[in-house]
Amino acid sequence: MAQFICQTCGLQYAENPSAPARCKICADERQYVGWAGQKWTTHEELAQDHSVRLEMDGDLLGIGITPGFAIPQRALFLPTDAGNILWECTSLVTPAAVAELKARGGVDMIVISHPHFYSSMVEWSEAFGGVPVIIHAADREWVSRPSPNLKFWEGDTLELSPSVTLFRCPGHFPGSTVLHWKNGPNGKDLLLAGDALHVVQDRQHVTFMYSVPNYIPSHPECVTEVRQRLDGVGFEDLYGYTWGLNILGNARQAVDTSFDRYFRAVGR
Ligand SMILES: [Zn+2]
Ligand SMILES: [Zn+2]
Repeated sequence: MAQFICQTCGLQYAENPSAPARCKICADERQYVGWAGQKWTTHEELAQDHSVRLEMDGDLLGIGITPGFAIPQRALFLPTDAGNILWECTSLVTPAAVAELKARGGVDMIVISHPHFYSSMVEWSEAFGGVPVIIHAADREWVSRPSPNLKFWEGDTLELSPSVTLFRCPGHFPGSTVLHWKNGPNGKDLLLAGDALHVVQDRQHVTFMYSVPNYIPSHPECVTEVRQRLDGVGFEDLYGYTWGLNILGNARQAVDTSFDRYFRAVGR
């Protein structure tokens, strides 16, 4: 029995004697099957030739995998007044990474933006004693390894503490979530956007994509909803889904400009 991990998207599946016929995330039109066909690994195999990459990304400690694996996702460690949050997740947990994060006070909860970053979320939760993994109920169908540690939230906003709030920002997935952190490191207000607001290559704009790799834009009604939901939410920096893909400084203004640019492009 093994818990197979998809090599293209990094999603770990529940224990099974053989690998699934296909990965449901990669078979979905928002993702793609690797060009060499569906490939699987396991957590044990992955740990043999990969390690956890822990290094600063902007003002935050990033947690990834080296050499690069899957999308490649990068999680962030957030020491907040709601507790220490692991924002997003990756496929590989190692004793060295757990020790490093425990030295910083440990992880109290895991919060994930959307199914592309579910990865080995249950493995990470169990490594920290079964901490809750907070994900939006609208994306429940994409869970591949059920666990009592998964906590589904509903609605459009969820306040985790006076300074940490989750906002549902649909378009990529119905439950796509961003995390707003007031008064973070160096006193800055931050928006952790996953790819609900997708930072583009100039790192001065975002765009709104139903599928990033297959270039399918989000529906204008979803983008209108995101614009309304984030109206009046201030932030100086915005962190995207992977290493370095961030807008550091004037990020709120960059997002406003990007909403205008998107609506011009789709003729609204
Ligand atoms: Zn996959
Ligand atoms: Zn995604």
